[in-house]
Amino acid sequence: MNKEKVTIVGAGPSGLFCAYQLLKRGYAVDLYDQMSGVGKKFLIAGDGGLNITHSEDLKTFATRYGKNEEAFSSLLNDFSPQDLRSWCEELEVKTFVGTSGRVFPEKLKAAEILLNWLKVLKSYQNFNLFLKHRLLNVSNDKELTFEGELKVKASTVIFALGGASWGKTGSDGKWNELFENLGIEVEPFLPMNCGFERPWSEHFISKVDRTPLKNITIKVGNQKVRGEVMLTPFGMEGGGIYALSNIIRDYILKEGKCFINLDLKPDFDNETILKKIKAKKPKDSLSNHLRKALKLDKAAIVLLRELTNRDTFEKPEYLAEQIKNLKVELFSMRPLSEAISTSGGVSFTGLTSDLEVKSIPGMYVVGEMLDWEAPTGGYLLQGCFSTAWRVVEAITK
Ligand SMILES: Cc1cc2nc3c(=O)[nH]c(=O)nc-3n(C[C@H](O)[C@H](O)[C@H](O)COP(=O)(O)OP(=O)(O)OC[C@H]3O[C@@H](n4cnc5c(N)ncnc54)[C@H](O)[C@@H]3O)c2cc1C
Repeated sequence: MNKEKVTIVGAGPSGLFCAYQLLKRGYAVDLYDQMSGVGKKFLIAGDGGLNITHSEDLKTFATRYGKNEEAFSSLLNDFSPQDLRSWCEELEVKTFVGTSGRVFPEKLKAAEILLNWLKVLKSYQNFNLFLKHRLLNVSNDKELTFEGELKVKASTVIFALGGASWGKTGSDGKWNELFENLGIEVEPFLPMNCGFERPWSEHFISKVDRTPLKNITIKVGNQKVRGEVMLTPFGMEGGGIYALSNIIRDYILKEGKCFINLDLKPDFDNETILKKIKAKKPKDSLSNHLRKALKLDKAAIVLLRELTNRDTFEKPEYLAEQIKNLKVELFSMRPLSEAISTSGGVSFTGLTSDLEVKSIPGMYVVGEMLDWEAPTGGYLLQGCFSTAWRVVEAITK
């Protein structure tokens, strides 16, 4: 059954999935990575509960990839969220749909998937894993140079080198120069699913340190999401912010700042809030009353005091307005290294629809190193698996 050998560089989920599918189809695989272990970022992704994909319909799913919606619509059609769940079952890992529609492995962690995945890979005699092999150069005729002067001439090579955040996992984005030297278009990296900065008063920082505002809505421009915002000493982060992070980021890059509007009580209209504020008994402090009558948590009250005029709390009408529509100014992104994912990377313009480099046949690019972005919610990993599937199909056709 031994077919051609495929060289893969990058042993994150994208590279590992290519290896799995190629070995299954009888190909030999040499897999290289600069780290001492595989899937380091994948393991970190599992820390807070591995959200492997999402259960929503494919049409909506594809819209999550923004300007790349069309390309991903086709990619998802070929390897869908359901296909990804079936593959997890193949690895004896059951998945479930959470209340938000997100899909998780039953044990929530990435370790079980990775362990079973590696067991399968290692069961193939024609699989070789080369860890601690840092790629230093690539030539037009697909000669790869690794640290220590090792040169490998590949006939078919897949690059799965990841984005440029969480460098300690190996995804350092330093590969961009290697590709630019080959004349391949690489878009600059930008943080995605990241936190944002604004100055707070010392008083605020002393009161609020990584405190969540739960179940609020966040609006920027004409986009609105419901979720959680984490107040931090540097500014804000959390699911609700991540979901809008590309829009906030682009405003900041263009205008030096971005206004977001928070609705701290999305289930109440202005009138209800006003009525509840006015029901305060003279003996109650306003903060206590807001906590009891509106279930407004302490962090929300501290935030209101930080961002509004001193007399806000003396004017019920104005206070109600601020609770429904609190304006927050954000000025800068947190560093790229901290972002959950990055946009930028190898541009689709230099690739065929099979993700093969147009100018270098036999050279393919998959996963987060491609120039696409998506919010959290399982869209990142699904994007990695679907692009990897496309390349395996092209090679084995
Ligand atoms: C905190 C956190 C939580 C996350 N949670 C989720 C989640 O719940 N759901 C979700 O969908 N996504 C999540 N993600 C994102 C997801 O983990 C990534 O999108 C995914 O790991 C990208 O896979 P990849 O294989 O393309 O790249 P990576 O996983 O980044 O792997 C790239 C590999 O290439 C290797 N490499 C890089 N340069 C070289 C070189 N020069 N030589 C040799 N090897 C090299 C690296 O060592 C690395 O092993 C999360 C990310 C983070 C940081």
